[in-house]
Amino acid sequence: MIIPFVSFLPMEKELNIEIKKAFDRVFNSSWYIEGKEDEVFEKAFAEYCGAESCVGCGNGLDALMLSLKALGVGIGDEVIVPSNTYIATALAVTYVGATPVFVEPDINTFLIDPSLIETKINEKTKAIMPVHLYGQACDMDAIISIAKKYDLYVVEDCAQAHGAMYKGKRVGSFGDAAGFSFYPGKNLGALGDAGAAVTNNKELADKIRALGNYGSDYKYHHIYKGNNSRLDEMQAAFLLAKLPHLDKMNEERRRIADMYTTGINNPKVVTPIVKDDCVPVWHIYGIRCKERDALEKYLNDKGIGTNKHYPIPMHMQDCYKDLGIKLGELPIAEEISTTELSLPMYYGMTDEQVQFVIDAINEFK
Ligand SMILES: *Cc1c(COP(=O)(O)O)cnc(C)c1O
Repeated sequence: MIIPFVSFLPMEKELNIEIKKAFDRVFNSSWYIEGKEDEVFEKAFAEYCGAESCVGCGNGLDALMLSLKALGVGIGDEVIVPSNTYIATALAVTYVGATPVFVEPDINTFLIDPSLIETKINEKTKAIMPVHLYGQACDMDAIISIAKKYDLYVVEDCAQAHGAMYKGKRVGSFGDAAGFSFYPGKNLGALGDAGAAVTNNKELADKIRALGNYGSDYKYHHIYKGNNSRLDEMQAAFLLAKLPHLDKMNEERRRIADMYTTGINNPKVVTPIVKDDCVPVWHIYGIRCKERDALEKYLNDKGIGTNKHYPIPMHMQDCYKDLGIKLGELPIAEEISTTELSLPMYYGMTDEQVQFVIDAINEFK
């Protein structure tokens, strides 16, 4: 049996007509940037997240970067980010001229450990960026209370967590702002690059929108030296077609994850922990195994696709050599980078396929 790490085919088959209708609607309108589709999607997505405002952006990295910029985070500032995340979280900080400061995750949940945040706070710290990594919400009560105590902004990185819940509320509405990515492989994916910033602060939303539209508040009037990062009409229309299906697709991921968690019983493998307050959306189902590379090769040889999130921690990347962090200084991120293995996870995976993966893992010696 061949089981890819990810496949869009079952979803694309189901949504084929709706996606084509969305294409026709935009194409027939001959209107491609800043229009009705974007406006309607922003409203629908803000409502979905339980937030006041949504601003469409070109991608998730820009949504995070523009949020930080709009909050006034910049040169000389420090921003707390988890040591285990996709590099875009840290790059958003770097792009506004600030410095990312890494805080280790809890190895069981892969999420930033709030009990370690305070030790990294100093007079330069401006914000905390919790990442709801792999689709599970961070401990937002603890993070918000630290932010309040030190007067820091909170910008949630929700790129992997569309619809994930913490204490009954969807992520994206806890902090001052949140960045979402609609990269095709994300739980809610466009047919290209796209993203959005979400916030309960209308004024901040206006500033993020202006910053992503050449710093313009109205046509040919520029109040900021802005970027060009807007959600185009075609992607907004595709996202509008997909949004009503998101909960169902997340539910399907939870079903697959539950099968993995109850079915995998190889003592060499550790399955991920879900916290009581969380309803995760399983962007990634990551197991840990000391013999990760051997397990990966064994699964790949059986036709099972896998991935590693992430094989090189950010502090060991060439581009972040300037931070001067040495191997050994962030041991949990380093351990995750050598032991984490992501299993196939996508809408439309059959029970038979999931069971094939489980059996293969349990037979690994
Ligand atoms: C995908 C991702 C991003 C960046 O989103 P893009 O749309 O690819 O720019 C940011 N943070 C995390 C955690 C991600 O997984």
